Amino acid sequence: MALKYCQGSKCHTYHTKDRLKGMKGSKTYQTRRRSDFYYGNGNFCSMNCYNDWFNKFGDQAIDHFGRLTEPKKLTEQNAWQKTYDWDNRTDDRVYVYRNGITNEQRPLTEAQYNDTNYTLNER
Ligand SMILES: [Zn+2]
Repeated sequence: MALKYCQGSKCHTYHTKDRLKGMKGSKTYQTRRRSDFYYGNGNFCSMNCYNDWFNKFGDQAIDHFGRLTEPKKLTEQNAWQKTYDWDNRTDDRVYVYRNGITNEQRPLTEAQYNDTNYTLNER
C-alpha cells in the first residue's frame, strides 16, 4: 500500500513523537505519512491539519470551483430522497422515495434504492 503525506500546510510544526524523525543531532519534525488518513477525504491526519489547509487555501479553492452568490433552492422538482421504513409485521425494509417539500411518498424497489443513477429528481 502506497504511503501518502498529510496535506496540512503546518503538519510538520506540531510537536508529536511520531513526527520527530532522524538521528540524534539531526532530528526534524516532519509531515505525517501514512497509508490512509481519516479527515478531508483521506488527505489530512487531523482536523487541525484540515483546518490549516482550508484557512490557507479555502478561499482560492472556492473561487476556483465557483463561489455561491445566490442561495441554492430545494424545490418540489428536486426534493426526492431515497429512504426506508420498517414493515412492522415482517420486519422487512420498505423502500420509498419521499419528497422533502410535499412529503409525498412513492414506492421504490430495493434495486432502485441501490441504483445511484435512479432518481425522480429533475436534473
Ligand atoms: Zn497532518
